[in-house]
Amino acid sequence: MTKNTTGSLMRPTPLPESASHPVVTPLSPSVVYASDTPDMLDAQYEGDLHGYTYSREGHPNADVVAQAIDRMEGAPHMGVVTASGMAAVSAVLLGLTQAGDHVIGGNQLYGRSLRMMSEDLPRLGIETSMVDPGDVEAVRAAIRPETKLILVEVVSNPTLRVADILGLSALAKETGVLLVVDNTFTTPRAFRAFDHGADIVIHSITKLLAGHSDVMLGYVAARDQALNDRLRVFTVTAGMTPSPFDCWLAERGMLSFELRFDRAQSTAMQLADHLAGLAGVKRVIYPARHDHPDHHRAEALLKGHYCNMVSFEIEGDRAAANALARGAEGLRFAPTLGDVGTTISHPASSSHRALTAEKRAELGMSEGFFRVSVGLEDPSALCDVFTAAIQAATE
Ligand SMILES: *Cc1c(COP(=O)(O)O)cnc(C)c1O
Repeated sequence: MTKNTTGSLMRPTPLPESASHPVVTPLSPSVVYASDTPDMLDAQYEGDLHGYTYSREGHPNADVVAQAIDRMEGAPHMGVVTASGMAAVSAVLLGLTQAGDHVIGGNQLYGRSLRMMSEDLPRLGIETSMVDPGDVEAVRAAIRPETKLILVEVVSNPTLRVADILGLSALAKETGVLLVVDNTFTTPRAFRAFDHGADIVIHSITKLLAGHSDVMLGYVAARDQALNDRLRVFTVTAGMTPSPFDCWLAERGMLSFELRFDRAQSTAMQLADHLAGLAGVKRVIYPARHDHPDHHRAEALLKGHYCNMVSFEIEGDRAAANALARGAEGLRFAPTLGDVGTTISHPASSSHRALTAEKRAELGMSEGFFRVSVGLEDPSALCDVFTAAIQAATE
């Protein structure tokens, strides 16, 4: 570090010197980075010298988070961290398409992704089709000459169906269409999407990766270098850059990600079996259970890790649902997932409220349908809470 002899009028530079280094990644909120000379700045812009310039273009805290996820996903180039998971989805859907293109989406995508497919892309002249990602032949039938990409989630929300990723990746290769996998639910702990043929991987870091419900961030990376570069440039132009502090918190959260995930998914397995044995529970959905319609596919794809999400349905109407939420002592009734604490959500009043009751019934989401994001509580204490809540709801 060069010594500042003139002294900045406003800012003390350089920082106090230390021969030893901080163990924790420093937080770098600086919006701008000063280069020594125009020559140096030139070299930075030309890519001959690595150096940050303006934080919308990139900053160290974002890159630390990107590299941590790159390692977990086996991404071939440094991914891009964005200000939310939806920013990452938008970067792909808006940054890689143009009017006249066609895009296919899984029919049970995250609500906002579905909305972008049904409301925003058509407005821009991009046609979309929603197809069951478990049915490769249906996806094949939807492909047109102008189809650009297929966006799917591995495990769907909230019915936890498992996409036929191997079939889809073979189809994508055969037809030259990009396979984009939103790996938020499964995480690289359960599923490494690039290893299974994905061209682009998306995350909402907000959920399990950061894991403490105090950060909103996303991630996107492409296998192809040119596509990866285009995604980065688009996120910078569109201003999807994350806050350094959010990145700092996410890095901190991710240090315990694998431990949290393993604990939550083993508790999820116990809770699913426990729920299945309770009177008043009509059905339990968990991909590790043998009664799950996609159990064999889940077993083959997820290598015993599954996920921390369990859905179940009780007998009864909205009053029963209210009683269950009230009766689940200590658990938050909140429409998110991946927190350290278990959260319960109710699709009929949240994610799927826009649908008619008939449509929801068709999708298997009655008033008695709940989704649980299992957290880090003691497993048997958690099972007891559900026993009491379901008793309160169904008696
Ligand atoms: C939450 C979520 C998103 C959106 O992420 P945000 O960080 O909330 O913008 C996208 N996909 C899936 C599967 C999600 O669960």
